[in-house]
Amino acid sequence: MSDGVVTAASGPVVEGSALPFACVDDEGRGTHEKVVKKQAIRCSLSRICGVCGETLTRPVAFVGTPDEALDGEFAFPPCHVACARQVAADPRQRLGHAEQPHRWVLVSTAGFDLVRPARRGDPVWFRPNSVLERETL
Ligand SMILES: [Zn+2]
Repeated sequence: MSDGVVTAASGPVVEGSALPFACVDDEGRGTHEKVVKKQAIRCSLSRICGVCGETLTRPVAFVGTPDEALDGEFAFPPCHVACARQVAADPRQRLGHAEQPHRWVLVSTAGFDLVRPARRGDPVWFRPNSVLERETL
C-alpha cells in the first residue's frame, strides 16, 4: 500500500498516489502528468469532479499553477473544494502537469466554460467565470 497522503482521488495507485478521476482512461490506466481529454470533457458536461468522479457541488474549485490562475485557464477539470485541497496537499499529485508546481493555486467559482482547442488533438481548457476566491495552497 501507499504511504502517501490519502486523497479523494478515485483511480488506481500510480507512483504511490491514486490517480485523479480525470487522469484515468477507459481502460483504467493513466499517469499523473496527463489529463485524459475525454474525461475532462465528461467532467465538464456531466458536472462531475475531476478528482473523485462524483457530482459537483457549488462552489466549484479549480486547482492549478500560479500561471494558470493568472491566465484564468486551467488544464485540470473542475472539482469539489475539499477534493482540490486534498490533492494539492499530496506531494505526488501533479494534476495533469509534468511537474508539481512550487505552489498550487485554488480558485473557486460559481461557473465555468470549457474551452475547446483550435487545433484537433490539443487539450481542452477550463475557464472559471466570476472568481469567488483565490487562494495559494
Ligand atoms: Zn470530488
